[in-house]
Amino acid sequence: MVETCASCRKGAETWEETWDRKRYCVDCLRSSAPAVLAFLTSKRPLQEALTRDMVSGLRHCVRYWTIFGALFGAVFMIDAVQNGKFDAMIGGFTAFGIIFSFCYIAVTGWLGVIAVSTWLPRETSVLDGNCVVRTPDRTTSFPLSECSWFEGLTSHDRAGLLLKARRAIVIQTPLERVACGLIPGMYPVWKEFLLLAGVTRGRKRRRQK
Ligand SMILES: [Zn+2]
Repeated sequence: MVETCASCRKGAETWEETWDRKRYCVDCLRSSAPAVLAFLTSKRPLQEALTRDMVSGLRHCVRYWTIFGALFGAVFMIDAVQNGKFDAMIGGFTAFGIIFSFCYIAVTGWLGVIAVSTWLPRETSVLDGNCVVRTPDRTTSFPLSECSWFEGLTSHDRAGLLLKARRAIVIQTPLERVACGLIPGMYPVWKEFLLLAGVTRGRKRRRQK
């Protein structure tokens, strides 16, 4: 059957249907979305899960310990160099700062993991033109036309700093931001598909209706 390609509008003998229910000719897919074309042949749904083993409280801690350690260390060293000796008061202040921030960061990292674990695993998928986000306690579904996306970082996700810092495709539904493209090989699939489907690109938050 001859189908009209949703991209070039030409009739095509060979076409593929993507997850937004639109049909594209193989030529268009090959030239503008090769990763999507390859993924379509696997017949798998466009889906990605964020699981408990992908979050780490220690990651959050090490990140902040380094920042605060360097900060207090610098204060102490600058003072020592300026005065030619280690000042007891500044030393006490920095020691207190280091211990306090160490504990505070450890507690927030630990609480962060507990909080995040209540809504993991989270599954993000595109189904019949909708972006579906499923967690153990709720499932939300929004048409792609109400969503937007941008190339950001894992820190843009709700799980934020508990995730390994890396670039991600951040999809913004009217409710939340979800980072995708974390599974090896999935980044180009998400990006090409969202471009192909004409989903709004940009990080501006849409006003909820
Ligand atoms: Zn085409």
